[in-house]
Amino acid sequence: MQEHEIDVVPGRCRICGDSAPVLRLTEFNLKVCEPCFLRFLERRVRRTIEKHGMIGEGDRVVLALSGGKDSAALLFALRRLGVVMGFELSALHFHLNMGDYSDRNLVVVEDQAKAAGVPLEVKRISDLGLQVRRVKGWHPCAVCGAIKRSLMNREAKRLGATVVATAHTLEDVLLFTFKNLFSRKFYVPQPVLPASGELSRKVKPLIYNHERMNLSYCRLKGVPVFEERCPEWTPRGHSFKDVLEHMEEVMPSSKLRLLLSLQEAIPAGGDLHEGEHTACESCGEPTSQSLCALCQLSNWFARRTDHDDSYNGV
Ligand code: AMP
Ligand code: ZN
Repeated sequence: MQEHEIDVVPGRCRICGDSAPVLRLTEFNLKVCEPCFLRFLERRVRRTIEKHGMIGEGDRVVLALSGGKDSAALLFALRRLGVVMGFELSALHFHLNMGDYSDRNLVVVEDQAKAAGVPLEVKRISDLGLQVRRVKGWHPCAVCGAIKRSLMNREAKRLGATVVATAHTLEDVLLFTFKNLFSRKFYVPQPVLPASGELSRKVKPLIYNHERMNLSYCRLKGVPVFEERCPEWTPRGHSFKDVLEHMEEVMPSSKLRLLLSLQEAIPAGGDLHEGEHTACESCGEPTSQSLCALCQLSNWFARRTDHDDSYNGV
């Protein structure tokens, strides 16, 4: 399914009353003009941050910036909010070593950080001997997720971050919850994971935002967005997204209501950091197993005798 954008139609803005092209936000039964839409999104992010105590004055926030529409929108929204709320912001990008695709991704990320005036740190997984590819029983997406997750923890510590922000959206969180429920795991991602031991607080300020709002925000602000599909993308892995879109078409605002209901029905467990309570035998980072995912993967790549550095996925 195509990434669908918000319709823009002639009308009257429900916020400022101007007659102008308005965006039809069916999820909120609202029509707003373009300037009001930008403020609407930023206010929503601020409310989420304040309601859940995600970020406070003096925090050092590191945003995981992928270059896609969601983290790009969050970069610009946080940059504005940082000024009024008094927190520092920097961005962290992982170059995922997937050939030219990752190089092109990095160019867009650098443009975004420059346009936002936010310092950017780039970490190349090739420097750690890592690649995103099928490993033993791991799907490439699982490898990628494990690498990003572990690196985010350790880079946050190295950069002295008090908060790590990711751009997980309403759709991301619902899909993750569905996958859990299908295997009888009753876990709904939370807006905030409190700091614990070595781990910084992790926050998802876009958890109640629809993806298409982020896309429109970037378009209206003229923010460059990396729109190439990941070379490992498969239609099957994303087909549940179509189910969500269909549900929203049949019943506007159902995605948000569903997430709020699931959060209420399935209380946050005590194990918010998903068992990352022991130290990895090799690197000492928090993990749930004897070796952390990053060390397991590093060992696997190091053992491969036919190791080939080029990426064949593109
Ligand atoms: P994903 O795992 O692709 O669903 O991404 C989840 C979140 O991780 C995104 O919202 C971003 O904040 C962050 N992220 C994804 N890819 C990267 C990357 N290459 N570098 C930095 N952060 C990323
Ligand atoms: Zn380790």
